[in-house]
Amino acid sequence: MKYCYHCGGTILQRIPDGDERLRYCCDSCGVVFYQNPKNIVGTLPFIDNQVLLCRRAIEPRQGLWTLPAGFMENGETTLDGAIRETREEAGAEVAVTNDSLYTLFNLPYISQVYLFFRARLKHRDFTPGTESLEVRLFHEEEIPWQEIAFPVVKSTLEYYFEDRKQNLFPVRMITMEYSKQRVLSSKLISSSHSGELPD
Ligand code: ZN
Repeated sequence: MKYCYHCGGTILQRIPDGDERLRYCCDSCGVVFYQNPKNIVGTLPFIDNQVLLCRRAIEPRQGLWTLPAGFMENGETTLDGAIRETREEAGAEVAVTNDSLYTLFNLPYISQVYLFFRARLKHRDFTPGTESLEVRLFHEEEIPWQEIAFPVVKSTLEYYFEDRKQNLFPVRMITMEYSKQRVLSSKLISSSHSGELPD
């Protein structure tokens, strides 16, 4: 954005009075354009012993497999957004229970927050949307672990197959960060299953 959409003035980066960060500000009317983290919401759709994955038709990570997820829209809830993305990307209808919230990932290095919900497929009718090349169901042993698009998706799937053994699905919050050596690591910050966090 180069020009202010309120007054057409030029936008410059400066630290507004009383602030500590550089912001995009209109040089003419003084309005500040804040940029804040984005929420990405999605589901882990399952039916019987299988989970649904979508093969991405778009960049980034085109051709790799992911869970249906996307940016929240204004005016919708996280869960509604996740169900909408599942319909758009996978043509799938899901039903959720009141314990559907499953994983939350903080990604401060790209200013994003991911939220995944467990969601039961209502039926086996689904079809790829415009952002997917292919949509299919996988048993655990069929998951293409080397072709998963994003670390948050891989991590959510790993937790799911582990939790399924006990049929207990605690809500977890995980923070992913890069070390100085540029290695991505994830840390479990919060879990609704008492005793899971290291001391
Ligand atoms: Zn302006």
